[in-house]
Amino acid sequence: MSENQNTTRRDALRKMIRSTGLFALGGLGWGAYVDKAKASELVLRPPGALAEQDFLNSCIKCGICVESCPYDTLIVAKPESHVPIGTPHFKPRAVPCYMCPDIPCAPPCPSGALDIDKLKKDGDETGDKLDINKSQMGLAVVDHESCIAFWGIQCDSCYRACPLMDEAISLKYERNERTGKHAFLKPVVNSKACTGCGLCEHACITEKAAIRILPRDLAMGKVGDHYIKGWDEEDEQRLQNIKDVKYQSTDEVPAEDYLNNWEDLIDE
Ligand code: SF4
Ligand code: SF4
Repeated sequence: MSENQNTTRRDALRKMIRSTGLFALGGLGWGAYVDKAKASELVLRPPGALAEQDFLNSCIKCGICVESCPYDTLIVAKPESHVPIGTPHFKPRAVPCYMCPDIPCAPPCPSGALDIDKLKKDGDETGDKLDINKSQMGLAVVDHESCIAFWGIQCDSCYRACPLMDEAISLKYERNERTGKHAFLKPVVNSKACTGCGLCEHACITEKAAIRILPRDLAMGKVGDHYIKGWDEEDEQRLQNIKDVKYQSTDEVPAEDYLNNWEDLIDE
């Protein structure tokens, strides 16, 4: 079958699925499904997965992505998994995502639960090329208490395992001020580059991994629009844009860069 025929077939299937709703709930009632959904906050989904609730609303549990993964990374949730039954997920300590450049798991998804638009290569005019480095399956978080690099013991297992070495994980050199003669080489994760593949968690040498992948929503905070980094060009532009907006409502207050504009405050 040609790629065009494949795409048409998938599109038709997607439309059918959306128009008929969640027909694949099987024997599991809607209430039980929702209960399971609440228990699934820690679950890691395949590359390109929609936000968790949208994913749960879209995935028809066909298992095609699981079958397409050559590394058996993806597994189908069983009743005891504390993940909505039948949905695909992975556990990086057991088997991480090996970041296949052609991402065989995502394009065959017939429901749109895995959205290849999120994985399209930047700057590719054909729109056909995918980039696994754009996936955001989760975010690596280091436990400073149990990571032995923070004890001053040399270990760079996670750093070496990372397919985006020096982008997603870098090593930060720090002197041990107390002894004056020891140094630390601490792993630092860059949330903008980390894909959550879990190769670091898989490679971590501690008994229970000291670096673990969490869903990004859970791992990350949110600053809010009223805070501006004075040294960041994008933020400066954002501040300028806010100042330029005409506020229609009296309770909409523009962000003030008062730390940098302190002279204005004194004049008042
Ligand atoms: S990118 Fe490759 S290893 Fe990762 S989940 Fe998809 S098929 Fe499996
Ligand atoms: S291929 Fe898509 S619809 Fe099927 S189980 Fe995987 S994510 Fe769900």
